[in-house]
Amino acid sequence: MSTIYGYAGKVLKVDLTNQTYRIEELRREVCKRFLGGIGFTTKLVLDELKPLIDPLSPDNILAISPGCFVGFNIPTAVKCEASSKSPLTYRFGTSSSGYFWSYSLKRAGYDMLVIYGKSPKPVYLLINDNSIEIKDASHLVGKDCWETVDIIKKENGKVEVACIGPAGENLVRYASIQNGYYNSWGRCGLGAVMGSKNLKAIAVSGSKEIQPYNEKALLECIHELVDRILSFPPFEKWRKYGTMIVTEVYSRIGALPAKNFQYGTIEGWERCTYQELSKYEGFKLPCITCPIACSHVINMSDGRYKAEITSATSFGAKLALLDLKSVIKCAEVCSRYGLDIITAAGTIAWAIECYERGILSKEQVGLDLKWGDEESILELIRKIAFREGFGNILAEGSARASKIIGRGSDRYAIQVKGMEIGGRDPRAKWSVWCFGYVTNIRGGDDLRARPPIETFKGIQPLDEYFKEVLNVREERIKSLDMLDDIKKRVFSENGKYMDIVEMTIWSENLITVFNCTGLCIRPPVLGTVGPHLISKIYRALTGIDVPPSNIMEVGERVWNMQKIFNVTEGERRDDYRFPSRFYEEPIKGGPYSGRKLDKEAVDKLLTKYFKLRGWDIRTGKPKLEKLSSLGIDYLYERM
Ligand code: SF4
Repeated sequence: MSTIYGYAGKVLKVDLTNQTYRIEELRREVCKRFLGGIGFTTKLVLDELKPLIDPLSPDNILAISPGCFVGFNIPTAVKCEASSKSPLTYRFGTSSSGYFWSYSLKRAGYDMLVIYGKSPKPVYLLINDNSIEIKDASHLVGKDCWETVDIIKKENGKVEVACIGPAGENLVRYASIQNGYYNSWGRCGLGAVMGSKNLKAIAVSGSKEIQPYNEKALLECIHELVDRILSFPPFEKWRKYGTMIVTEVYSRIGALPAKNFQYGTIEGWERCTYQELSKYEGFKLPCITCPIACSHVINMSDGRYKAEITSATSFGAKLALLDLKSVIKCAEVCSRYGLDIITAAGTIAWAIECYERGILSKEQVGLDLKWGDEESILELIRKIAFREGFGNILAEGSARASKIIGRGSDRYAIQVKGMEIGGRDPRAKWSVWCFGYVTNIRGGDDLRARPPIETFKGIQPLDEYFKEVLNVREERIKSLDMLDDIKKRVFSENGKYMDIVEMTIWSENLITVFNCTGLCIRPPVLGTVGPHLISKIYRALTGIDVPPSNIMEVGERVWNMQKIFNVTEGERRDDYRFPSRFYEEPIKGGPYSGRKLDKEAVDKLLTKYFKLRGWDIRTGKPKLEKLSSLGIDYLYERM
């Protein structure tokens, strides 16, 4: 039994080079300052990973940690963070996934698993409570992720399987780690890190009880959390349609990334919206302990996958595959090969646009490329996964591929800091969400800075960059679980606007805290839960008192550590920029049609952001005073 309530109390460190492992005790002081999940993985990476290594060399480390609330019946506390140096961005690479895997790792008795080195031959790791085996995986080489899951389950009974497919084995820079059939650690290419280590899979089962500090208080917290989630106004819609609920809104505000972000709307989009779901058979796939159950797997005659906004905007809009059936098929194929959907679609969109503009030829690509052509798109996905022919270039991601091809093709690589951006065009309604694309530690991503409150009502004035039009009732703002002084700084008195920079920083820190605890960031949770309830749950679970302001300080500490990692790897202020398309080409379609971003205005926001973060406004380096206030000044020398 752990000596720290609420924690399993152990860190499992596996050295694949020597085929050995060791188990270390978790330290209470580390728990208080980093909580768990991304807090633990960030500390581990900063403490142990040497700067400037090749992310696909044995020197890289993969750290995986379930959030500290995982392992109990805490609603939506299911997420597990995996962190490493990203082979795609060469920055801090990190990704979160839920379902049942993280719960199993914690119940097996581990708060973190760290993988070092490189196995001389393909292996998989089997963790079953105290039994840890490094097993031969030669029979799994070349198998896709679904086959791998099936084979490992058949060999070992009831285990949860995280694995890579051909894309990870072939070191595609945006290979994912799949979590069962339908979930993944998708972004940042962590599947390639596993591939570089000859590690095909990690299978886990766990049966240990973990003792909370105060069961009665924890139960009260769980009731409060359930009440809050259920009170979220569109809860039922989220339950019914999951993330597909925003498919229609994105089109209404003209923010779709249609044909590689050339258009904000696209004819035929109605065949990819949530209303289409009712036409198909399917089933719900909730993560363990989740009352929302946002995931809907739908069965098609030739495909079966979750219907989500990510795949709808990636394949449906970016590639103009205007049919939910085709979207689901592509998503399934990506998950079988083990590819990040957003980067795969973004890179293919770059290729199609270059082809259309005559930058790429049929001889180069080996295929005739067209928007909305399922056959050639599926063939490109396959070529990428196996690095076959032109797929070998596309396997590098659009930023690197455009450097290889040249001829001005970088203009069509829609990425920030080397990572393809998601499914919402910032030239439509300017918002915290959009600004978060450039401030994101991971690069062009929308999962690390999304506000707990957002509306699509009202038109954002075209020249307004500092404030986001909100128009919500004051009660909604009053009920938000935030620190009072921050709330005053973020919202205008009448609730009509929020300050974009202040809210970006708040939401980045808050989401980091969520990723420390393992809570899901879907709106019914992110919109109702904040540091006060998190502090209460943490105390009930561990007996450790971390007041709400200190909870937020954990988020800020971890964000700053990741920033230090990026600065050490060469990141500078100039890297905080949108693709040139957004500054130079007006968006077409929707109420913001004709709008492009004002570079000077975005720069002013960035200056405010750097100042508020306590970072040097010229270089972007965190200042020593800031690091001292967070108790991490020892890392200043690293930069
Ligand atoms: S809301 Fe969806 S992603 Fe989040 S925990 Fe529930 S089922 Fe999983």
